[in-house]
Amino acid sequence: MTRDMPDASRRLEHMDELVSLCARRGFIFASSEIYGGINGFWDYGPLGVELKNNLKSLWWQRVVREREDVEGLDSSIISHPRTWEASGHVEHFSDPMVDCRTCKRRFRADQTDEACPEAPSQRRVSECDLTEPRNFNLMLQTRLGASEDAASLAYLRAETCQPIFTDFKRVRESARQKLPFGIAQIGKAFRNEINPRNFTFRSREFEQAELEFFCHGSEREKWFQHWLEERLAFHRGLGFDADHLRTRPHDSDELAHYARQAVDVEFLFPFGWQEIEGIHDRGDWDLSRHSEYAGKDLGVTDLETKERFVPMVIETSVGIDRTCLALLCHAYRVETLAEGDERTVLRLHPAVAPIKAAVLPLSKKLADPARAIQSELRRHFNVFYDEAGNIGRRYRRQDEAGTPFCVTYDFDSQEDGKVTVRERDSMAQDRVAVDGLAAYLRERLERTD
Ligand code: ATP
Repeated sequence: MTRDMPDASRRLEHMDELVSLCARRGFIFASSEIYGGINGFWDYGPLGVELKNNLKSLWWQRVVREREDVEGLDSSIISHPRTWEASGHVEHFSDPMVDCRTCKRRFRADQTDEACPEAPSQRRVSECDLTEPRNFNLMLQTRLGASEDAASLAYLRAETCQPIFTDFKRVRESARQKLPFGIAQIGKAFRNEINPRNFTFRSREFEQAELEFFCHGSEREKWFQHWLEERLAFHRGLGFDADHLRTRPHDSDELAHYARQAVDVEFLFPFGWQEIEGIHDRGDWDLSRHSEYAGKDLGVTDLETKERFVPMVIETSVGIDRTCLALLCHAYRVETLAEGDERTVLRLHPAVAPIKAAVLPLSKKLADPARAIQSELRRHFNVFYDEAGNIGRRYRRQDEAGTPFCVTYDFDSQEDGKVTVRERDSMAQDRVAVDGLAAYLRERLERTD
């Protein structure tokens, strides 16, 4: 093995560096870019959609497939509007906002210590000519059918969990589940955020992966701890360093009135510690409210004790976009190599890396055998092929995309049936027989150390 270790390495300092890499390499860029973008909406390009899908499948595998006590669901984005009255969103899902009388912009009342984007100097929003705070509902509305009257009003869901509650009885009975058990879904949620910012961190359209776990009141503490540990183990498994991940229990004045406890999982972004997931004890609030509003009893009977009760709910709610952003921020490195050469590398965990291996023939004359290797590897992983430019430049392109392995086919390969496999982070190179290449890569991709 040969290696070429970097002399110095630095992490992401400014979000702009990542925003530009993501656009240039097709991870994430502004939606409707040719019209100047639309604030709070983002598109995931060829690399971004692979990253996101990998994260979603890891979550689904761990939370749904590996468990007998969790069922999956894919509900519609628009629900009966009564759903959002019962959940309290129509009345309460709002942020207190202030308007600036001079620049006519609107700000969140809890974010007025920031610099005003309209003021010439570093004046703070709180020093502007502001109105009193007013509540602004964050749900996005739409109209159904041809009429424009109140009866046609509907909402895009503000969180993915409410349909889990309204479908609770149907899922439990059809899957023949007994308590304790959970229902999970991944999907889009929409919030009319006033100040979308920090790249995808606060968007107006985003994806959540949520689990609602139903249990008897006597077991809610046990299941809260279980899911908190389970979710932390998941995040650690994604490769986040211990000093970039922490939990933050909510103070009692932060809790929703129905919640008994809540803990945020936070990641250290370049703009500070921020929530990526919430674990909440929601009590029996949601099922009780939907029972009341729909006039349908959503309680269950314990077959042994014959006790009739409304289940308690432990929720885990993770933002897929925020976790992707955390993964990208965490992975980003600029390294100085020998002779002042520099490379940007995304040290993504192989399980989430969009491309697992790139096949690079040393010369275009070697395209045929290199293509044959790519076709074989493609049956197992997402594999990229690149024959353009010098080999150093091709390595750099893959480093920036976070590709864990590059496979180089050279003139010796024709003689000895071997290729050079270069590992992204250490840049160590290994000669590997083409026959065992898929097994070799699988073993190294699955290695967790
Ligand atoms: P915040 O306080 O940051 O607005 P929240 O406490 O309202 O978040 P929840 O309602 O608990 O968030 O949603 C669960 C998860 O959904 C969050 O941890 C986050 O990862 C994600 N999420 C919430 N709002 C947004 C958003 N506007 N853009 C991207 N992801 C979001």
